[in-house]
Amino acid sequence: MTEKSALVVVYHRQPYEEVEHEDGTTELQENKSPNGIVPTLKGIMGRMGNAAWVAWKHADDPAHPDFERVIEINDSYGKYKVSRLPLTPAQVSSFYHVTSKEAFWPILHGFKERYNYDPVDWPTFREVNWAFAEAASHEVAEGGVVWVHDYNLWLVPGYLRQLRPDVKIAFFHHTPFPSADMFNVLPWREEIVRSLLACDSVGFHIPRYAQNFASVAHSLTRARTTTDELTADTMTPRGAALSERFTPVTMEHRGRKVRIEVNPVGVNSDFIDELASTPEVDEKVEAIREWLGDAQLVVSVSRTDYTKGNIEQLEAFERLMARREDLHGKVRLMLVSVGANRAMVAYEEVQQRIEELTGRINGTYGSFEWQPVSLISTAIPLAELVAYYRAADVASITPLADGLNLVAAEYCLAKQEGDTKGALILSEFAGCAVLLNGAIPVNPFSFASMDRALDQALAMSAEERASRMADLRASAKRWNISAWSDRTTRHFKEMLAVPEDAGLIT
Ligand code: UDP
Repeated sequence: MTEKSALVVVYHRQPYEEVEHEDGTTELQENKSPNGIVPTLKGIMGRMGNAAWVAWKHADDPAHPDFERVIEINDSYGKYKVSRLPLTPAQVSSFYHVTSKEAFWPILHGFKERYNYDPVDWPTFREVNWAFAEAASHEVAEGGVVWVHDYNLWLVPGYLRQLRPDVKIAFFHHTPFPSADMFNVLPWREEIVRSLLACDSVGFHIPRYAQNFASVAHSLTRARTTTDELTADTMTPRGAALSERFTPVTMEHRGRKVRIEVNPVGVNSDFIDELASTPEVDEKVEAIREWLGDAQLVVSVSRTDYTKGNIEQLEAFERLMARREDLHGKVRLMLVSVGANRAMVAYEEVQQRIEELTGRINGTYGSFEWQPVSLISTAIPLAELVAYYRAADVASITPLADGLNLVAAEYCLAKQEGDTKGALILSEFAGCAVLLNGAIPVNPFSFASMDRALDQALAMSAEERASRMADLRASAKRWNISAWSDRTTRHFKEMLAVPEDAGLIT
């Protein structure tokens, strides 16, 4: 257990499910689904000879936690250590639910008006980030890589650089990164950016977010972009809202080189295919289609969040009902909007509005036999969701801002040979809009655009659907999760200067 690790992943959540039994014991269960970011990160750890993970765990008295700080896990991904950082519920609430979700989240997604500064306790944010940095510094081997994830740990790289000048530090953003005009609303802007510039590598999903980071760094420090490259056509369709012709590759700050990585996290396409192609799913698709009769099914799936545009989506559907009497009884919207367990006022308000609008649409246009909107507020397992994806005529994914949006890709990848139905309406402001070809682009801030997109999708010919879906599937497969993992592993190899045949990373 004293061996230090070549790779240390710093991610706020633990890499397994903690299941409490009635006899008071706790079981650590491996996440069942290989889909999602936690199993993907574990897959990358599994490729290393020795790796560790740092996450927080509730403790009433962090100085004397009632659990072992560092444990060793041996699961299907291999053997790795987990360092559990004891934090009080008050610390977690402050650094995560308040500072990260009420101050950072709205700014990352471009909602200045939702930015809530007043409840932020910055000393606690610093203290928690320092504790993560210390825990990582204990685990990492001389010259190893520490890989830090997401905005709630923005100060970790700067602290870690002070604690361990020898290590390589990589950071990955799972969200959008805004322009300087938006980011600089944060009063802690310079402290955050200087911490990120202490990294050896800072990663983003798409070129726009990387370019925004560079512009924020230019606005606050003397960091400059030293190399950039023309963005590949596959990552920047001409004229799209999130297109960026050039991608920064390296920056320099105080004589140090910082690599800018652009690597969109994708979907596990083999797994989606496996789930969607079973005889049980075939049967379920048949049953859904039979139940629908000649009605078209529009699906929309997301977390309940003001960034996801579910209110705007319902308003568009209400306008559709108002102007297209011919569609009454002929179309259904299945809106899956799953509340995250956060008990935050901003999310509760969105959920309430969604419920009100659904009630109003169903009350105004529905009948005993036909409800235009089915609202589902509890999570549907992916294994079941894929049947709805396959059966649906249209997926309408219309976030106002979204780092990538994996649901859009999952919808396309779930379609099987012989599924003749399927069209994707996709917001121009979802990161994946620059990666997926063949969608109907939509501006969720424009009534006209939302209305046009629904009309176009519902009226689309079978030939056009098939040809667009072929493009969508091909592009969704191109940026799947194995591409992300391969690129990340290669990048770490370069950072560690490991010869190809050294066997440290397989
Ligand atoms: N998801 C699910 N069941 C649901 C709703 C969502 O399994 O009822 C999954 C969905 O399949 C996708 C993920 O949750 O894999 C959402 O990822 P996305 O990137 O679209 O949005 P995020 O919530 O990360 O912003």
